[in-house]
Amino acid sequence: RPITGELQALDRAHHLHPFTDFKALGEEGSRIVTHAEGVYIHDSEGNRILDGMAGLWCVNLGYGREELVEAATAQLRELPYYNNFFKTTHPPAVRLAEKLCQLAPEHVNRVFFTGSGSEANDTVLRMVRRYWALKGRPDKHIVIARENAYHGSTVAGMSLGGMAPMHGQGGPCVPGIEHVRQPYWFGEGRDQSPEAFGRACAQAIEDKILTLGEDNVAAFIAEPVQGAGGAIIPPESYWPAVKAVLAKYDILLVIDEVICGFGRLGEWFGSQHYGLEPDLMPIAKGLSSGYLPIGGVLVGDRVATTLIDDGGEFFHGFTYSGHPACAAVALKNLELMEAENIVERVRDDLGPYLASRWSELAEHPIVGEARSLGLVGALELVADQASGARFDKSLGAGSLCRDLCFANGLVMRSVGDTMIISPPLVITREQIDELVRLARQALDETARRLKNRTFERTPA
Ligand code: PMP
Repeated sequence: RPITGELQALDRAHHLHPFTDFKALGEEGSRIVTHAEGVYIHDSEGNRILDGMAGLWCVNLGYGREELVEAATAQLRELPYYNNFFKTTHPPAVRLAEKLCQLAPEHVNRVFFTGSGSEANDTVLRMVRRYWALKGRPDKHIVIARENAYHGSTVAGMSLGGMAPMHGQGGPCVPGIEHVRQPYWFGEGRDQSPEAFGRACAQAIEDKILTLGEDNVAAFIAEPVQGAGGAIIPPESYWPAVKAVLAKYDILLVIDEVICGFGRLGEWFGSQHYGLEPDLMPIAKGLSSGYLPIGGVLVGDRVATTLIDDGGEFFHGFTYSGHPACAAVALKNLELMEAENIVERVRDDLGPYLASRWSELAEHPIVGEARSLGLVGALELVADQASGARFDKSLGAGSLCRDLCFANGLVMRSVGDTMIISPPLVITREQIDELVRLARQALDETARRLKNRTFERTPA
């Protein structure tokens, strides 16, 4: 296909991609994705690839859903744009707000719309600080977040996140944000049992609160399962212990549902899986299955009541907050998810099925752990299965495995030597079998090349 070379040259010349080493791109060229259907993407070279990452954890209903296309085009004809500033709004924004609050836990009855997950987390920071100021406690302003977390790429999102390379390139960060250790047992806690480690991570939050002074700490933010950091599923002891610490010191709980929301863990919201009642829940991605950009913050009654009754005007909002076409697509997406019992299928059928198939990979000689929950999973690559010793970093085992997966027809993501999957929620059992088979082939080939050292070292 002649378009590949032409597009790659133009791409190289003009296009600065997110999260990309521009120089490496110049040497290798981008893979051009041209179209997609169901759980498969196609590239300009005629390859069909199983999208094990649902785009970027978002295409929950899969590609090519005509109902979503129709919802967007009908709304673009009717009213392509109007805003929700001051005292105007429009039907799709109102209907979507109603639907979200109907799906959300009992204590959540309000939503503030944004254009993305990063904007949602900026909004969270504004709301948290405003809440405590309105309560007459402006000193309670520090937000505790976690190391290695991802909460977005705006300056506030990056600051809430705990990714050192981002801080290094984007600093100085927003002041008043502190980080504590993540409940990453395989990576950081193997000298203890998972349950003891989970409790130790909660204790680290309490220690941080006491160091900072409880009167200065406003909120704690985390994902139920940390996504971009490596699909980190916390030990069972973690969330109950964290919940108790936050209650003890009257600290707001913010659960970032951008990845875990909308069925990924087998519940409408990931916080429900762990029995959490967050005060604020940033959402995006799966809200519209990625068909159009939209995000928001679900606001629990505690914060909403204060903002509304005591707040007056909230000087905050985006041109595209609750954009009509995006809202119409999101509403249709949620309606389809309900009609097709997507969340129940993930919880009762696909999640357990993935868990049973995925755990087989734990026997592979270069896999130290295979974990999954709902439709998110991870593999930890190791040089020595018995001791769990990692590969030398310079080998780039994770990125080698990722590239071999892609070449073999499967999108997996690598974070260091952790391999991640997060497929569309409409994947079938047969497609899960295919995913596991392709992943195993890539693991075999990765092991073979690492053993023989027959590969070009790939940048991480
Ligand atoms: N929070 C989490 C947990 C995310 O994974 C992401 C995106 N990967 C964001 C926030 C930011 O969302 P967006 O890219 O839509 O700004």
